[in-house]
Amino acid sequence: MITILFVLVIVAAVVAMGLKRRAKAQARRASFAGPGSSPEEAIAIRSFADMDDELRRRHCLCGARFSVAGEGTRDAGGRSFRVARLYCDECDESREVYFDTSTLLQ
Ligand SMILES: [Zn+2]
Repeated sequence: MITILFVLVIVAAVVAMGLKRRAKAQARRASFAGPGSSPEEAIAIRSFADMDDELRRRHCLCGARFSVAGEGTRDAGGRSFRVARLYCDECDESREVYFDTSTLLQ
């Protein structure tokens, strides 16, 4: 009887660990989607201050704040985008965020 309980506890722990890992993987996948994740999802900005604000708001999944590792311009589908590369010093995670600069007020 004790043995069966013991086995059940272990099975429950393994299942819980698997679910947790799956939830984490899903959260990570989701963090690669959404606004700014691709040229199609580019965030329209009116000024570069908007871009800085947006980048400052971004946090890594580990909870740390991303730092901006670099910025560049990229052309895709006949449009020009500003791309910021974010980097997490805590866990080495990185992201690219696309901004639509055609809406810039000059
Ligand atoms: Zn991180």
